[in-house]
Amino acid sequence: MAIALPPLPYDHSALAPHMSSRTLEFHHGKHHKAYVDKTNELIRGTDLENADLVTIVRRARERGEQQLFNQAGQAWNHDFLWQSLRPAGGGGPSGELAERLESDFDGIDGFTERFKAEAVGHFASGWAWLVARGERLEVISTHDADSAIAHEGVVPLLVLDLWEHAYYLDYQNRRPDFVDAYLGNTINWDFAARNLDAARGRASVAA
Ligand code: FE
Repeated sequence: MAIALPPLPYDHSALAPHMSSRTLEFHHGKHHKAYVDKTNELIRGTDLENADLVTIVRRARERGEQQLFNQAGQAWNHDFLWQSLRPAGGGGPSGELAERLESDFDGIDGFTERFKAEAVGHFASGWAWLVARGERLEVISTHDADSAIAHEGVVPLLVLDLWEHAYYLDYQNRRPDFVDAYLGNTINWDFAARNLDAARGRASVAA
């Protein structure tokens, strides 16, 4: 058994103009695929050959296998990224997630400001996340291939890719505009709500 490249959950053109077809073709079809392929090369013939991707990421971290951690972490993070985006996204959450944003960030505007500061301020490559840590929501960022699932006690709700390959074709060096487009137009709050439910044991799987 090998790790598979999950199909994009929408057409390549579905996020335009905020994220172009060309970006999605390269980002999913080349970058993400390469991480999946390299993970499979590295686990072939090892005790992780039949493991699921989350297990591979966590074992690689525990064992200090940095090359495998980088490839597997990137494979998992990109799968989570595509689900963190949607056509006609943006706006804000409803229900419990809206209440949690209110108490932990002073609402959607406070969250937006906090997330943008983290994503724009993050140096070089990495990922910006909304996570649940215990009873609190937090915005964090991780470097390079590091993944929130490798952090004890943290449940990822949403992510944004901060590597230049995520935005350079559409925004060149303008990362702040890319972050604005995510927060305003493509962020998938339904996905975040499902992940929060799963984290609290009200659903079995984060779809
Ligand atoms: Fe990427």
